[in-house]
Amino acid sequence: MSAHTTFRTGGPADYFLTPVDEDDLVTMLQILRQADIPVKVIGNGSNILVSDLGIRGAVIRLKPGFAQIEREGEVIIAGAGALLWQVTKFAAAHDLSGLESTMGIPGTIGGALVMNAGTDHGSISEMVVSATVVDTAGNVQVKDHGNLGFKYRESSLLGSGQIVISSRLQLTPGSPQEIQDKMERLKQKRTSRQPTDCRTAGSTFKNPEVYIDGKQQAAGKLIDQAGAKGWHIGGAEVSQKHANFIIAKPGATSADIRSLAEWMRQRVLDEKGHYLAMEIEFLGDWTGWVKQTVALPPENI
Ligand code: FAD
Repeated sequence: MSAHTTFRTGGPADYFLTPVDEDDLVTMLQILRQADIPVKVIGNGSNILVSDLGIRGAVIRLKPGFAQIEREGEVIIAGAGALLWQVTKFAAAHDLSGLESTMGIPGTIGGALVMNAGTDHGSISEMVVSATVVDTAGNVQVKDHGNLGFKYRESSLLGSGQIVISSRLQLTPGSPQEIQDKMERLKQKRTSRQPTDCRTAGSTFKNPEVYIDGKQQAAGKLIDQAGAKGWHIGGAEVSQKHANFIIAKPGATSADIRSLAEWMRQRVLDEKGHYLAMEIEFLGDWTGWVKQTVALPPENI
């Protein structure tokens, strides 16, 4: 699975399947169900940490299949395997605005819907009209916005076993120059604050329900205040640039990353008194995983 996650870690799945269309997907699901093989779908693997032992059962990846993008007036219909940036660029080319706020999120439409991906400038749920989903028995249905249970960084699809095939997104007409400027501005803001071009899954934790002067506290700020920047376990390190990001350096294992995440959570609890909920999802067989101890990188000692 290391070839299919942005951490570039994780052992093998028993079966790895890439359906090319809806019929193919439905047939696969029916066969897997008959054989009693558990199924997990992934998009671009940018919010998951797969164990070093890998995944028992089948993994279905909808990228690069299911990547069609179409337009119906101000509505974009995007396949679940299309990458967010591809859909944003398609929309911009058709003078449609709304998705710019997701610039730089390296996920697919399916992953973004399930996680309700977003930034300070908005979340994908604000644009979702409906999603077409298929259940593990192969039944296809359309769910409208109200039936998708969107909350901060989650939806009712998460863990439900339902697979998103496509989504209808309502955008608004915009000036091409303004859309382009906004995309560029948000891209620069992201690169100035977050590590880029490295092995990571973005924010490790969700922002907690902690408010100071009416402003929600960022998990990254709490981790920074708890003095966790730069600490590492094996090849996993708390980013110096953004404390909520774990960077996988050469030789990093999933066990290193998970241990570091658990240590960061404990550190924030001990130092700041707040319990952070994981945003990244641990997948696969974690049998025998033991939390390892943390160290400062040699240059900081
Ligand atoms: P995966 O990681 O492959 O899967 C995530 C979950 O979605 C899993 O539970 C999976 O089973 C499920 N899933 C995926 N596709 C489907 C489908 N078709 N049907 C049903 N379930 C599905 N996230 C943000 O919200 N905001 C950010 O600003 C942000 N910045 C990031 C920056 C970096 C550098 C990185 C690496 C990650 C960042 N992320 C951010 C996290 C991540 O990109 C998002 O959560 C993204 O939406 C995950 O999409 P994915 O396709 O990679 O999903």
